[in-house]
Amino acid sequence: MTIETILPTPDMFSAKRILCIQPHYDDNDIGAAGILAQLAKNGAEIIYLTVTNDLMGVVDSSLSDEKAAAALKRDQFAAAEIVGVKEQYWLGYPDAGEYNYFDVRRDLLKYIRIIKPDFVFTCDPWLTYEGHRDHIQTGLAASEAVMFAGLTKIASSDPKVDSAYEPHDINGIAFYFTREPNVIADISSTWEEKIGALRCYEAQFTPQDMEQLLVAMDAKSQQVAQGQSFPRGEPLKVLNTSALHVGI
Ligand SMILES: [Zn+2]
Repeated sequence: MTIETILPTPDMFSAKRILCIQPHYDDNDIGAAGILAQLAKNGAEIIYLTVTNDLMGVVDSSLSDEKAAAALKRDQFAAAEIVGVKEQYWLGYPDAGEYNYFDVRRDLLKYIRIIKPDFVFTCDPWLTYEGHRDHIQTGLAASEAVMFAGLTKIASSDPKVDSAYEPHDINGIAFYFTREPNVIADISSTWEEKIGALRCYEAQFTPQDMEQLLVAMDAKSQQVAQGQSFPRGEPLKVLNTSALHVGI
């Protein structure tokens, strides 16, 4: 049995500035490009922040790190154009590597205090059977940074940002890659954009792997929409940020 929060589910469509925090270059788009494209069309500023450098996922192992990084960014900018992403930031932590959780949290506090999003998207760090530590750390650090943004005694990685910060409201957090969705977003009208964005990620997928990804996305988008009034969906856990602690 799942006991839901008593707090009302925040309305994503009222968001004006959405910060989407992802472990790797393609996670926001795999998890949520359909709804994010809609929110962009609805007038929200969509900003992506990528935590790791994603270099382990680059298919062509003959590329230098510089060339691989350039290929990843080329793909990400092409996808961003389709989804309607306005700005991008990168933290550059080593993909699948050893780095400090609190360093990531400090950096995320810094960017949340600078960007002042009213809604945050990230991957669900409590996804059962998630084996990739980058996803667990990113989702948890994003959740803590959302909760602690207003508490400037909890330092970010830039003291100047902390002292200049005037607390603002973050109305909600949406987790993609979740097994406990409370919202199935209707992405029927932006499905083509989502597929178009995913096809941009050439550096990370062989043509064969890309086709497998698209087949899986096709099946999953229809599976999650079963029982709904629309054919394709994205599952999200959308929470009031006050629901991120002790389950109220
Ligand atoms: Zn990832």
